[in-house]
Amino acid sequence: MGKISDNYKKLRDSIKDDVNIVVATKTRSINEIREVIEAGAEYIGENYVYPEATEKYEELGDMSIKLKWHLIGHLQSNKINKALRIFDLIQTVDSVEKAVDIDKRVENAGKIFMPILLEINSGKEKAKTGFMPVIKEIKKALITMEELKHIEIRGLMTMGPAEGNPKNTRKYFTQTRKIFEKLKDVTTINSKMEILSMGMSNSYRVAMDEGSNMVRIGSLIFGERH
Ligand SMILES: *Cc1c(COP(=O)(O)O)cnc(C)c1O
Repeated sequence: MGKISDNYKKLRDSIKDDVNIVVATKTRSINEIREVIEAGAEYIGENYVYPEATEKYEELGDMSIKLKWHLIGHLQSNKINKALRIFDLIQTVDSVEKAVDIDKRVENAGKIFMPILLEINSGKEKAKTGFMPVIKEIKKALITMEELKHIEIRGLMTMGPAEGNPKNTRKYFTQTRKIFEKLKDVTTINSKMEILSMGMSNSYRVAMDEGSNMVRIGSLIFGERH
């Protein structure tokens, strides 16, 4: 058994079954990705629609169809058509306008719905996009998005500020979890708060403590990025 396979299986065995692991595969080679799939990985998280994710999707051939592909990097509007062809879930919808842009293109891509998560800018960082962690604003956005017939809002995703100690990230996860819980009471036709995507290699334990049910893990499985 290879190291990647070993790392994935250990991680999978160490966390509860109801927490899904999205394997963050940016910059990783096809051989590395094959190894983690053979070890049982079901969710692949890619950051760049084109060319990286598109090429990998094609190279993996039949394997690709069995996987769930999640977009976890920023989605540029001019990549939406390509993203719709590959991804099963777009985790990084950062504005109502982006949701509108996606909605318009779903049918042309041969799909009925595109499942999405709303990305919360939990650190209120100026350099980042995303919904501000303000329940009123997000509720309003959900109501506005109710008229989008081709998207399905499945939950929330957050990164938290990049730098620093994972301990300091806890408060951002707590806050996002609270918003997630409150939004469960907002019933709109095309939203259902099921997925809370929080936590990376250095923060997934804290994130799970705070209610995450989807963690996005790269370096813990593959080693440091090259
Ligand atoms: C790269 C990445 C991850 C995984 O990061 P690691 O520290 O390698 O586990 C998770 N989420 C997003 C959005 C990423 O870009």
